[in-house]
Amino acid sequence: MSNCNRSTVVNNIAKMRNLPPMESCKVNNINYAVDVFNIKTMKKYLKADIAEELVETIKNRSKLNPELANYVAKAMKEWALERGVTHFTHWFQPLTGATAEKHDSFLEIGGEGEAIMRFSGKNLIVGEPDASSFPSGGLRSTFEARGYTAWDPTSPAFIKRHSNGATLCIPTAFCSYTGDALDRKTPLLRSIQALRNSVKRLMKNFSAPDSRFEVTLGAEQEYFLIDKQFYMTRPDLLQTGRTLFGAVPPKHQQLEDHYFGSIKPRILTFMTELDQELWKLGIPAKTRHNEAAPAQFEVAPIFEELNLAVDHNMLVMELIRQTAERHGLVALLHEKPFKGVNGSGKHNNWSITYGDRNLLDPGDNPHENAIFLTVLSAVIMAVDKHSDLLRSVTASAGNDHRLGAAEAPPAIISIFLGDQLTDVIHQLEKGGVLSSRASSKMKIGVDTLAPLPKDATDRNRTSPFAFTGNKFEFRAPGSSQSCAGVCMTLNTIVAEAMDSISDELEKFSKESFNEELQKLLQKIIKSHKKIIFNGNNYSDDWRKEAERRGLLNLKTTTEALKVLLLEENAKLFDKYQVLSRTELRSRYDVFLEEYQRKIIIEGKTALEMVSNIILPVVRDEIKKSVDTIVEMKKLSLASPTGIFAERIEKMAKNFDLMLEEMQTLDNALKEENYADIVNRMQALRELVDLLEENVDDRKWPLPKYREMLFIY
Ligand code: ADP
Ligand code: MG
Repeated sequence: MSNCNRSTVVNNIAKMRNLPPMESCKVNNINYAVDVFNIKTMKKYLKADIAEELVETIKNRSKLNPELANYVAKAMKEWALERGVTHFTHWFQPLTGATAEKHDSFLEIGGEGEAIMRFSGKNLIVGEPDASSFPSGGLRSTFEARGYTAWDPTSPAFIKRHSNGATLCIPTAFCSYTGDALDRKTPLLRSIQALRNSVKRLMKNFSAPDSRFEVTLGAEQEYFLIDKQFYMTRPDLLQTGRTLFGAVPPKHQQLEDHYFGSIKPRILTFMTELDQELWKLGIPAKTRHNEAAPAQFEVAPIFEELNLAVDHNMLVMELIRQTAERHGLVALLHEKPFKGVNGSGKHNNWSITYGDRNLLDPGDNPHENAIFLTVLSAVIMAVDKHSDLLRSVTASAGNDHRLGAAEAPPAIISIFLGDQLTDVIHQLEKGGVLSSRASSKMKIGVDTLAPLPKDATDRNRTSPFAFTGNKFEFRAPGSSQSCAGVCMTLNTIVAEAMDSISDELEKFSKESFNEELQKLLQKIIKSHKKIIFNGNNYSDDWRKEAERRGLLNLKTTTEALKVLLLEENAKLFDKYQVLSRTELRSRYDVFLEEYQRKIIIEGKTALEMVSNIILPVVRDEIKKSVDTIVEMKKLSLASPTGIFAERIEKMAKNFDLMLEEMQTLDNALKEENYADIVNRMQALRELVDLLEENVDDRKWPLPKYREMLFIY
């Protein structure tokens, strides 16, 4: 790779004229859910009574009648064949963090050698992919490699298209021969069940009629886009998804001119196609905009039922990547692809619906207020008691660059409530809340809470866990993470908190219910208010204050994952039948190993890049400069102690230090000392980035930040 490549790439992009004329957008491409076998389609392809039975099964999440599966399979096949589908796959979410699929065609051969397209109820309900190569953390030894996929009828089948064909995808759960969960969906579904039980129990105490329960999730997805030609010339991006080297340019995001800025036509063309593709799959993409860092963007859907929203977010990530490719771009979903500018997160907006009420909506009468304050207290209790688990489920090699650093929420978990709600909570703690009729103290369940302004969201973008009007927004999760683990944990800890509240409520007498509830909430706030913080979470003061309050600050993945080994956490997941002890342990093993492998890959890539790409260029630069000095001296043009010579000396010194750092990184890699590898890579990077700023620009072989982040 020579300097030519870099300038060629820049020239190519500058000359690019591949945008279609404006006229072409007259076509209205809505096509919402055309590639989804949803309830509406089901009703068209199934007899009314069968469709009704299936809809009931889905709504009540009851056991599936196997008879039904044959009818559904037949209808699904008919629908799929009409839409050009030839293959089907059980689509599942192993612990790799990606989705997995193994395709089978509908093809069978008849007695006379003719093609018959077949898809049975059995094909729909179970699959048996060879599971031996998926991470299981020792749950399944390779000699017993069988894994099973089981149809999840609550997430509709959909069609994935490519340029010359299409595949029917059936969302499934994935478990081992012995029934252990090998995926992210199974525990998520279990946690929804656990929370359902706890919410129903809690609501019974408020004499609410048995109602439809739903956890809701809206996942805001951040990502970077760069021109594919840059990507192809950066081994670090190719191998690790982030830049291991690269000096921060003079202008990056400090002018705040990118955030919500006008979207460049090339990007908008990409976004339009992305929305069209998402809509075809029934994914309700709603918002699109430029994010804080240059070349950073966001897409957010309308919130949906949690299990569906998690599946949809997996597809959002896949479609962002694929659509980008079609536009000559590459999407980087890594949490920190570029040093010195914002990283990418995934804001999990989470709430609970019961009947037609959002339980995190304050409501506007005394009864609704009481329920809201109780649910709010449950969340505060849950997050305070289990902040370690919430930190732990956001831990990954990529997210360490966000959470561990002084950027976008810190590793310290805290809750933002906003001034007004905090005030309510403080008054509640003191023994009564000011009602809307000002001055007088409110009695819970009797008086009405002063209405919170709908946008009580007094925007605090620094908090890892923020109340935003009628939902909580968990902002710590990383951009490439599945929402499944995050929400599974949230559901389980809130279920526990609600149960502990119900334990008390059930002892109250009807007559004194409201007063006793008030006292109970008062007690909860008193013991858990230390988790509430409305200030600037990035500040040093908060770090000190958090320490004083006794809040955890688990800076690295290695520290954060250890939480999964604690007996109390094993007990919690076991009690709610979300993860057995062995399943939890297996997750610890899988996540730790994934972290370690990623660090090794990064370390080796860094070493190779310096040794093969950077070192030769710096060496030549020094040689050339030294030759120049010798020439100059011959002609008595400069003294050996002049500024030019000083410059060369400095470069030679850094070159030497770089060689030294390569050696120490190599040692750390040999010793598999992960913390050390991370530190050594950082030290090596600092030297390389300094050299980048001093080497002849025409010779620097790697695309620079100012190019990757600004030329597209
Ligand atoms: P922001 O200003 O942070 O972008 P928005 O109001 O646009 O906030 O919402 C962000 C996300 O929250 C969207 O995906 C939205 O659909 C989702 N959301 C809104 N209400 C709920 C809810 N009750 N439960 C879950 N997610 C919700
Ligand atoms: Mg948001």
